[in-house]
Amino acid sequence: MGRQWMKLIVQKYGGTSVGNPERIKNVAARVKRSYEEGAQVVVIVSAMSGVTDGLIKLARDVHPSPPERELDVLLATGEQTTIALTAMALHGLGIQAVSLTGAQAGIVTDGVHTKAKISNVTPKRVHELLDAGKVVIVAGFQGVDPAGSITTLGRGGSDLTAIALAAALKADLCEIYTDVDGVYTADPRIVKDARKLDDVSYDEMLELASLGAKVMQSRSVEFAKKFKVVFSVRSSMNDNPGTIVKKETRKMEDVVIRGVSVDKNQAKITLSHVPDKPGVAARIFKKIADSQINVDMIVQNVSAEGHTDLTFTIPKDDLEKARKSIQSLAADIGANTFASTEGIAKLSVVGIGMRSHTGVAADLFEALAAEKINIQMISTSEIKISVIIDTAQADRAMNVVHGKFGLGK
Ligand code: ADP
Ligand code: ASP
Ligand code: MG
Repeated sequence: MGRQWMKLIVQKYGGTSVGNPERIKNVAARVKRSYEEGAQVVVIVSAMSGVTDGLIKLARDVHPSPPERELDVLLATGEQTTIALTAMALHGLGIQAVSLTGAQAGIVTDGVHTKAKISNVTPKRVHELLDAGKVVIVAGFQGVDPAGSITTLGRGGSDLTAIALAAALKADLCEIYTDVDGVYTADPRIVKDARKLDDVSYDEMLELASLGAKVMQSRSVEFAKKFKVVFSVRSSMNDNPGTIVKKETRKMEDVVIRGVSVDKNQAKITLSHVPDKPGVAARIFKKIADSQINVDMIVQNVSAEGHTDLTFTIPKDDLEKARKSIQSLAADIGANTFASTEGIAKLSVVGIGMRSHTGVAADLFEALAAEKINIQMISTSEIKISVIIDTAQADRAMNVVHGKFGLGK
C-alpha cells in the first residue's frame, strides 16, 4: 500500500459498548475516525452484554456442571458473533475490516479451560492484515491451547486479550473503552459521589481489580505491569479523557487511599476440630490448589486441646468444587464439622500511600463500628486493608468508608 502510518492503536470495547446494533455502529464510527486520522487500528471486542451469562445458563440447563472444554467452545461463540458484526458495521462505513478469532490472531494459552493463561502471542496474521491497510477485529477472551482446543481467559478476559496484543504488537496506544468514564474511587453505580481518577498506578489498579472493581480484569493489569503496557480506561459514549494506568510516580504516594472496592463473589469455608500439627494445613491447601481454586484469606484460631479451627475464603463459583475436593480429606483428618457460608463480602481500601502513612486500619474499623457493621475477618498487605462483612451491609459500608477517607467530590 505504501501508506505512512502515524501509529498503531489497540482499542478494546466491552459488552455494553457493543450491546446492540446501534452501539456496534457507534463503535465502528469511532474506529473509522482513528483509522482516518492515519492510525493502524486493532479492535478487540467482548460478547454483547448478557450473552456470556446467557451461554453459561444455557450450558447449566443441559448439564449441572458442564465439562469445561465444551463450555469454552460455547463461550467463545459470544465474542465470535461480535467480531463479525463489528467488521460488517465497518464495511458499511466503507472501511475494509477483517475479523479474527483468538486462535487466528495468534493467542496461544495453556490448557486450563475457563481460566487459561496466555503463554505466547504470535500476531503474524494481524501484522499482515494491518500492513495491507485493513482494520483488524479480534475476538476477546479466547485463545487456543497447544492441542488446538479453544480456551477462554476467565471472566472479563477481553481486557487481557487487548493488553497482550498491545504488548505483542508494540502498540503506541492501548485504550480500554467501557460504559463509565474511567476508573473511579469506588464503583460509581454504588457510591454516587465517587470521583474519576486521572491516573492510577499498576499496583493500585491491580489491587482494586482483584478486590472487586470489575472495571478491569485483574490478570490483565498484572500482564500490563509485567510488560509495561500503559493504557487508558475511558468511555465509548463520549470523548472524555479517562484514566491512565501506568507505573507509579512520586506524586501518587501523597494520596493515602486511592479507592475502595467490594467483592461480593466470595464464599467462606470453615473446618473445625482440625488437628493442630505440622503438615495438616499443607494437605488441605494442596488439595484446594490441585483443584485450581484460589484461596484468598485464611484464618486459623488459637488451638484448644490439640485442635483448631481453620476458616478461608474462595470465589463463590468455586464453592461446590472446593467442598467436593476437601470432603474426604476432612473426614480423613477427623475434622468433624465442615460449614460453608455464602452471603459474605470483602470490602477493601487501597492506596500506595499506605506504605508511609499510619492509622488507616483504625479509621476503617472506626467507620464500620459507627455503623454497627461487624467485621468477620481482616487481612492486610503493604497497600491494602480488606475486611469480610455481611453482603447485605456491603453497599452501605462502601459509602461510609468512601466518605470517611474523604474520597468524594
Ligand atoms: P466492560 O463490559 O466494558 O468490560 P465491565 O462491566 O466489565 O465493562 O466494567 C465496567 C463496570 O465496572 C462499570 O459499569 C462499573 O459499574 C464497574 N466498576 C466497579 N468498580 C469500579 C471503579 N472503581 N471504577 C469504575 N468502574 C467500576
Ligand atoms: N464476555 C466475557 C465475559 O463476559 C469476556 C469479557 O467481557 O471481557 O466475561
Ligand atoms: Mg469487563
